[in-house]
Amino acid sequence: MPSVLWLRRDLRVRDNPALLAALDDGPVTALFVIDPVIWSGAGPARRAWLAANVLELAGRIPLTIRHGDPADVVSAVAADVGAAAVHIAAETTPYGRRRDAAVGELVDLVATGSAYAVGPGLITNKTGEPYQVFSAFARAWRDRGWSRPASTPRSPDLAEADSDPEALALLERAVADAPFDLPTPGEDAAWRRWHAFRAEGLDAYRVERDRPDHDGTSRLSPYLHLGVLHPRSLLADLDPASTYATELAWREFYADVLWHTPSSAWSDLKPALSGMRYDEPDDAIEAIDAWRTGTTGFPIVDAGMRQLLATGWMHNRVRMITASFLTKDLHVWWPSGARHFLSLLIDGDVASNNHGWQWVAGTGTDASPYFRVFNPVTQGKKFDPDGSYVRRWVPELAHLVGAAAHEPWQSDVGYQGGYPLRIVDHAHERLEALERYRAARA
Ligand code: FAD
Repeated sequence: MPSVLWLRRDLRVRDNPALLAALDDGPVTALFVIDPVIWSGAGPARRAWLAANVLELAGRIPLTIRHGDPADVVSAVAADVGAAAVHIAAETTPYGRRRDAAVGELVDLVATGSAYAVGPGLITNKTGEPYQVFSAFARAWRDRGWSRPASTPRSPDLAEADSDPEALALLERAVADAPFDLPTPGEDAAWRRWHAFRAEGLDAYRVERDRPDHDGTSRLSPYLHLGVLHPRSLLADLDPASTYATELAWREFYADVLWHTPSSAWSDLKPALSGMRYDEPDDAIEAIDAWRTGTTGFPIVDAGMRQLLATGWMHNRVRMITASFLTKDLHVWWPSGARHFLSLLIDGDVASNNHGWQWVAGTGTDASPYFRVFNPVTQGKKFDPDGSYVRRWVPELAHLVGAAAHEPWQSDVGYQGGYPLRIVDHAHERLEALERYRAARA
């Protein structure tokens, strides 16, 4: 019987179990639907990255591309081709689950696999409860293990594509409107990046991964986010106890947390700080704007926020520093920052992003305790000891040599490049954060 393979966050051919399941049924029509909900919620960089990967895939396999409410489009395409089933990889975010439930009312949706090595919800402790702490989850995740990569044919025999020209034009326009150069789209590029990192970066990853001034991480998150590459494919090359596998486990853990507690996408996972007094975003417009534009006067914070604006990606260590600055120096509740990150990051992922924010804010799992307030200067000097990350993204500080770039206020010529003054006194705001924390706990 004919079937439809509806691709969403699995824009690849290799190691694609849902594609294999569809091929087992008979003739397959591969479909991508531009979902107006996702499309309109994404900024130009995210739209461009998605569009570039869809178009790249469409250049390699027959892919029908349409635009509209997935419930209408998927059921119409299934009816057109006489499909008995619509194959998918299970989607596990709150929106994806709601959407799939609506589509599942109209067609027979068959889910095979997910965007994770171990599907969210599958790992529980002895009493059947989800794990609350990462280290225990990671142990159980390793013990459970994952299947070998699926051996999908490189050029699967698929029904001819029947795309809507307007949908294609929308994708092409999005690519043309990309605000900066994006990574090369597509799974060949993702695999090249993995092979290069495996050969040159993996051995040193444990020590290099915290250095924003070095190219010490894999930069695979944008590919993993859209399923251009599946984590199972990477894990097949890795020792499950390695640091890199453990980082992949964080991604799996946060997806699992979101699966069990969908409300944690936009509200505190743990109620411990529910009485916390935050500044209203409307009352902190200027400070938030300085944070967004990388003009806070704190070099490592500004470098990170400018890297985000200029590339759609930010180093993990600097994500933590900039998130800490918004929540603890500016006293803004984490969802404002999470929303801003999600609008710009090309790897923007509601599970990893929003729980990463909650980790920093002290409201999530394994929360870094609220009283641990990152000092942006000490963090900068520790993880960018030579100041080169700062000089790269903040040209106003390019004249300062070495670690002096982290403290322009210490130099007679620190501000000669026009760098802004600090918008807050960190020592004072740290005490203010601790005071609010004490009051919330009282
Ligand atoms: P590598 O260091 O090469 O790690 C390999 C892979 O492991 C990553 O691609 C990612 O899939 C996973 N990973 C690594 N660290 C983490 C982590 N702490 N949490 C979850 N997964 C991890 N990651 C996203 O993919 N999307 C996001 O929207 C996102 N937002 C974040 C927001 C904040 C405030 C923080 C603190 C972290 C966020 N992260 C997010 C996690 C992490 O910063 C990125 O995954 C990482 O920087 C991506 O770069 P990389 O591929 O070079 O990572």
